Amino acid sequence: MNNGIDQIADLIRSSKSGVILSGAGISTPSGIPDFRSIGSGLWSKYNPMEVASLSAFRYNPEKVFNWLRPLAKKLTDAKPNAAHYAVAHLEQMGLINTVITQNIDGLHHQAGSLHVLEVHGSLQTMTCICCYQQQDADDYVEPYIEHGEIPRCPECDSILKPDIVFYEEQLPVQTWNQARQAAESCDLMLVTGSSLEVVPVAGLPMRAVENQAHLIIVNQTQTYIDGRADAILRGDLAEILPKIVAEVTDE
Ligand code: ZN
Repeated sequence: MNNGIDQIADLIRSSKSGVILSGAGISTPSGIPDFRSIGSGLWSKYNPMEVASLSAFRYNPEKVFNWLRPLAKKLTDAKPNAAHYAVAHLEQMGLINTVITQNIDGLHHQAGSLHVLEVHGSLQTMTCICCYQQQDADDYVEPYIEHGEIPRCPECDSILKPDIVFYEEQLPVQTWNQARQAAESCDLMLVTGSSLEVVPVAGLPMRAVENQAHLIIVNQTQTYIDGRADAILRGDLAEILPKIVAEVTDE
């Protein structure tokens, strides 16, 4: 008995255009709190609309940057875990072609995944709120995290906004369109570490299923679409995903 891992491995092996959709749960073993979940501390002290919305950023960017600072430190210190490496491995073997992620931590890239769609943006770049020039975040990270220095545009001295999706903000259009297309054209979607509560990303597995894709869910929590899944596994993703990859490679 291996609790459905062999069935999941079979599904992955026989797919031609697999897609992985990942959420916060894949990065919690890397020490990154699910900052939307109650009790993680980041939301409990603040009303999210006051610190993580676009209007809050426009009205008082310093307050937003101060709130974001401890999280930004956690994100930049974090390293990929075994689950991220397992995902990258599946892409290297040609068994999945796209990773759609709700995470802004860049850990899929760090683990070696190549085709990653970061639908909630990332901390790797920032965009000037005045002249819209995009800057690589690297030069600004240390002065901000260590000294609280607010990043400013080298061209016009206006504040740089991290390219992460705030409340009230649209998803990055091009990335979102690619994610939707990937969901509609895949023959298998593996949802991992996402409770599928944040729209519109939560709708992607439904699009996949409606286009006859197989659905696998490897998660710690239930989702609205569990009833449509071909296979479901619950538990620690950093343990389960490498086991799945081992089963896939072990013909
Ligand atoms: Zn500027």
